[in-house]
Order: sequence, then C-alpha cells, then structure tokens
Amino acid sequence: VLYCWAASVNAEEYRIYKDPKQPINRRINDLMDRMTLAEKIGQMTQIERSVASAEVMKKYFIGSVLSGGGSVPAPQASPETWIDMVNDLQKGSLSTRLGIPMIYGIDAVHGHNNVYKATIFPHNVGLGATRDPQLVKKIGAATALEVRATGIPYTFAPCIAVCRDPRWGRCYESYSEDPNVVRAMTEIIPGLQGDTPANGRKGVPYVAGPRNVMACAKHYVGDGGTTKGINENNTVATRHALLSIHMPAYYDSIIKGVSTVMISYSSWNGIKMHANRDLITGFLKTIQRFRGFVISDWQGIDRITSPPHANYTYSILAGVNAGIDMIMVPYNYTEFIDGLTSLVKSNFISMSRIDDAVKRILRVKFTMGLFEHPLADYSMTKYLGSQEHRELAREAVRKSLVLLKNGKSADKPLLPLPKKASKILVAGTHADNIGNQCGGWTIQWQGQSGNITDGTTILTAVKNTVDPKTEVVFSENPDSGYVKSNKFSYAIVVVGEPPYAETFGDNLNLTLPDPGPSIITNVCSSVKCVVVLITGRPVVIQPYLKQIDALVAAWLPGTEGQGVADVLYGDYGFTGKLSRTWFKNVDQLPMNVGDRHYDPLFPFGYGLTTEPVKAN
Ligand code: BGC
Repeated sequence: VLYCWAASVNAEEYRIYKDPKQPINRRINDLMDRMTLAEKIGQMTQIERSVASAEVMKKYFIGSVLSGGGSVPAPQASPETWIDMVNDLQKGSLSTRLGIPMIYGIDAVHGHNNVYKATIFPHNVGLGATRDPQLVKKIGAATALEVRATGIPYTFAPCIAVCRDPRWGRCYESYSEDPNVVRAMTEIIPGLQGDTPANGRKGVPYVAGPRNVMACAKHYVGDGGTTKGINENNTVATRHALLSIHMPAYYDSIIKGVSTVMISYSSWNGIKMHANRDLITGFLKTIQRFRGFVISDWQGIDRITSPPHANYTYSILAGVNAGIDMIMVPYNYTEFIDGLTSLVKSNFISMSRIDDAVKRILRVKFTMGLFEHPLADYSMTKYLGSQEHRELAREAVRKSLVLLKNGKSADKPLLPLPKKASKILVAGTHADNIGNQCGGWTIQWQGQSGNITDGTTILTAVKNTVDPKTEVVFSENPDSGYVKSNKFSYAIVVVGEPPYAETFGDNLNLTLPDPGPSIITNVCSSVKCVVVLITGRPVVIQPYLKQIDALVAAWLPGTEGQGVADVLYGDYGFTGKLSRTWFKNVDQLPMNVGDRHYDPLFPFGYGLTTEPVKAN
C-alpha cells in the first residue's frame, strides 16, 4: 500500500508517447489511441499569429501557427521578443490534456527575412547562378540557426519552382529555368534540416535537432509553368512535361528527408492543385513515398472555388480528400474546424483520411524532438545576423554575379576597376538602398525601398574598397550636364527593379523600370560606365547595351553589398553563370534552354570570367 501511494505521488503516469526511448511508430500509435476527433482536427489546423493566443491554442488544440505578412511582433522586434511570443503560444498547447506541442512556421526564404537585423542572403535566382550546391547547403544551415535564434523550428522554404517564364512575379524565388539546377540546389534541405543519417530510411522526414529547422518544398507542382507567368494561374503541360520539368526536384527533396510539401495555388490543365488527389495522394504520397506532411498554401483551399471561399465546405472536402494534411487556414479557424468536423461526422471525409493526416503531422513533431524540447531558450540569439553568416552571404553575393559584357571591345575590358582614381561616380536608385538590394520578402511581405534593416549598400561597399585618396561622389539620379561637367574617371550605375512579391510582381513587359534608362543614358554617354542590375529576373536591356561599357547582373543580393565591390574591384574574379535565359524582347517568351527556337541575347549558362587581381 505504501509503495503504491509513493508511486502515485512521485511519478506522472507513464505514457508511451512521452517516452523518447520508444520507437516513433509506437509513440504515434499510442498518442493516436488517446486522441478525440476534436484533438485530431486541431492538429490539422494552422492559424496566423495575429489571431492566435495561448487560450485559442488550448481551446482548439491548434497544431501550428504561422507568421504571415502582418506586423506581430513589431517590425524591429528583438529575437527575445520573438521567442517570448512563440513560447507563450506553445505554453497554451502544452497545457492541453495531451500536451501536444504546436509547430511555429515562417517564410525564411532568403535568410530569416522577416526579422530585423537578420542576415539576408541573395534570392534564389542569384544562388542558382553560383552553381554551388555546397554553398547553398551552408546557407541552409546558417538560416536554420538564425530562425532558431527567434525560437522558430519551421521555414516554408525552399521554393523549388522551375520558373519557365520571367514575367512571373515569383521568378526570383526560383533557382533556375532548368530542372537540373533546381534539383542540385535541393542541397539546401539537408542544410536546413541536417543530414539524414547514413543508415536512415530514404524518404522519411528528418530534422537533426534544435540547431536545425523543418523545411518545406513548395509549391507542388508546376507553379513556375503558368501561362505568361501569371501567378496562381494554369499550367498547361502534358503529364510527361510536368513529370520531367516540374516534378524531379520533389523526388530529390523527398530523398533528402524534407519534412513538408506545400501545395501550389496554380492549376494543372485546369485542375486546381489543392484539389488534385491524383498528384497529391497518388503521385506524391503513394508513388514517390513521401512520408512527411502536406500543407496547403495560405487560404489555398478557399481558392479551389472561384470566387475564393464561395463554398467553403466543398473546399474543405476537396482539399482534405485530395490529401492535404495541414490547412493554412489562416484566420477563420472556427469555420474550418466546424466544417471539417461535420464532413467527418457525415462520412464525406473518412476517419482513415484524418488519421493519415494526423499521423504524418505527429511523425514530424516526434522526429524533430519537439516533445522533448518544446520551448525555446535565449541561448541561440547570438546567431541572428552573426559576422560568420554575413561573411557567408558576402561569399554568396560574389559567386552569384554574372558578367554579361566587359568593355566595348574584347581587348579593352573595363573590369576589374582600378581602386586608385581621382574621382569616381556612383549613381542610381539602387546604389545606396538596402531595401531595393534585398527585394521582396524582406521585413515586409512586399519588401520596401529604403533603410529597412542592417547591411552594407553597394555605395558603402565601394567606399570601403577604393583607395582612401579616391573621391567617391554619389548621385541617385544625375542629369547629363552634371555628369559632363565633372571629370569622373569612371562610373558605377546601379539600377533595377523595385521590391515586389507574388502577384504584385507579375509583369508582362519587363522593361527596365524608370528612371533606370535615363540614368544609364545620362551617365554612360559621357563617362566609362559599368551598369550593375539589381533585378529578380532578366529585363529588357538590349536597347541600352551599346552605351554600356560593362554589364553585371547582381540579382537581389541581400544585405551584404560588399560582395559586389569585392568582385568589381578584382579582389575576386567573376564566376557566376546565368541560371536563366536572357531574352531580347518579351515577344520571345517563354523561351528556355533546350527550346527549338532559341535566340537569346545571352544564353542560359552564359557568364564572362575575370581573374582576381593580386595588387590593385
Ligand atoms: C505564399 C507561400 C507562403 C505563404 C505563407 C503564400 O502567399 O504563396 O509561398 O509560404 O503565403 O506566408
């Protein structure tokens, strides 16, 4: 009697699912046996942080929360504030009957881009130009540390879209138009999640531990193939084209243990991907043996109907029965929970479908050790924007630059530039602007022009690099008289696209935005000039090519502008290769490497090289 009494007060009841020594399958089954329908449906529900609270987490057994584009916490919040916010929600989840931890997810798509003072790496179009998967893997590992620095274990990255048409507003989120380059860059997944163990089962989701984060391969599938690059639109393709162009990188991601796959807003041959059971349950889960969980996009199931949300119950039915496991609701969660519950109770959605979804979600949560370490501490905040990560980003910038023209004739190259000169001009809307340099998905969803976070602008980088006696003059938008009346040794013109994201970036004419063309003319007509393009994609450049002495595609390099000066001045050579075809005019689009009628301005893979200069 005494023994029993002692055991009951000293030890919590033994539960298999809470025991990390038990095999994961046993833990999953034990927990599943204990769960009610409401608890299971809660696991399938992902809500936005602005509608989340500890009470909501507890009351609805919410499985996951995400940061959308809002300003919670404030734009300049410290990593400690982020941790407090995430932990507060987690405590709500832990206080439920079964104490199943929630997963917090965020779009860390080029570094931890929502967070002030984080290291911002080049967007994927630039990383594709490096052709360096090991570098991209290191970027994944660095991003994981910065995301964990704010207490978050999950990023909605990488985007493994194969962008076939640069008119698409998300083209810069794609590594390349070429499926093989995209496949190689899935090395970012073991960077984010950690290397799968050598004896591990291929295709099983894997997250090494609290220095790593869950990844998400998105957007399944064919997001980069829509007609005219119109976002969220229809991809017209044969099954063969879909499987050979857009699908292969998913298989690589699955082999590398990706935890989650996000469904695309787009349609394939008229069928919304969010309702495509053949490709989700059939091809992804059954044929490719994906064992992690499938997540919808933001209000993705709502958009199964036109107009969106026209028949929400039908959307839930179509999306869940197609095989989506977690729904990014993200606001109207009671409507979602009630709708899904009644569909299960009326047998429109089977209990085995619900169980499949919940088991997959629990598998990821167990695998990553979330039950053992649900709360973040402050020990990793030092990684946010660390010097080491900034050096890595600077290296990535150097390797991403593509040299398209160097000198008006081959025997008179302009680059590398001399560090010693009496007076030089740095001009253009993108020369001294961190926000423009970073592009979309930086601090704000759409990005923002201006001094939005810490970093080195290209102007500052040039000043850091030239001889102290060289006078550097900056003018954002100089007129031609001003340029003529000064005796500049040479000019660096930095122009390009303003920041944008998703549909806001769709663009049918792809002209170089104003005042870029007039700046080029005003400067390059009277002084030797190198034009550095800050852009998410090729733009129409042929009309200005004759005036320009040297042309560099710098893509969206992020916070470490020093990498641009490192290469312009020859401390390092140019090595980047186009990950996209550079068209002459938009009437040629879509035009991709391997096409029968291929007549580009600069072909896929193009990129001049320079040797590093020893003493400059
Ligand atoms: C985008 C996704 C993103 C999600 C969450 C959607 O609009 O399409 O790529 O992960 O929002 O922010």
